[in-house]
Amino acid sequence: MLTLDELKQQILQAGLDNSTLCLHSSFRSFGPVVGGAQTVIDALVQSGCTLVCPAFFYQSQTYPSRVNYANNGVDYSKIGRMLSVNYTGCTSQIEPSMGAVASLLLKQPNASRTHHPANAFSVYGHLHQSLLANQSMLNAYSVYKNIYHSSQPAYVVLAGVNFTSCTPIHYAEEVSGRRLFRRWSVYNGQVVETEEGSCSNGFEQLRPQVNHLEKVIKLGQSETRIYPFKPFIDTLSESIKAHPQSTHCGDDECVRCNDMALGGRASE
Ligand SMILES: [Zn+2]
Repeated sequence: MLTLDELKQQILQAGLDNSTLCLHSSFRSFGPVVGGAQTVIDALVQSGCTLVCPAFFYQSQTYPSRVNYANNGVDYSKIGRMLSVNYTGCTSQIEPSMGAVASLLLKQPNASRTHHPANAFSVYGHLHQSLLANQSMLNAYSVYKNIYHSSQPAYVVLAGVNFTSCTPIHYAEEVSGRRLFRRWSVYNGQVVETEEGSCSNGFEQLRPQVNHLEKVIKLGQSETRIYPFKPFIDTLSESIKAHPQSTHCGDDECVRCNDMALGGRASE
């Protein structure tokens, strides 16, 4: 069983201490951990890390409150009933696919969640306040923008998951000049317009582009890939700009990938 102290030692050896980490993890990949997912969070935060995890809740999505945009990655005529659960910010409102660590991070007493019903991020650790600037429902990746423009060390950390779980790549798409899609959600009983990323099913194809930045470490049994945040975003955004089809999932009928490869949502 992996202990808190062993994990802290591994974090230190990997050079991840005192850094901001965009953490995407499969808790199971760590192997048995004394104290469960809370130990993973404690080990990272006690090592001086600030953690950023997606806390998405797609179930809040609904139909547009106005006419849809062109090239917006969605054909509402082909969508049946939507769940449209009223988002209230409750910590139980997170997709199970976000994983055990992300779900638990949201429940930490001092964790913050950005202001977005469907694509929020939870932020926890001593730098969390500085990562919350400029957030809005039409600025989904504000946390990533704050990390990108900060001089603090920051890493993308993929623990037992691949690039299809790597949300920062959507930010790289935005940096490359793509316009993110607009969606609508039910938020405290009101329909609100939000900004969202696209399909990520093809993102594993991008991995060779950042091989030179990749470092593979072990956290418990988890083979974890880490990348310095800014070079990761810069390299991928340049690559996406040069090869727009490289993010496509391969499904000819994927309207999100088709529209995003054309540059994303048309301007208003
Ligand atoms: Zn797709």
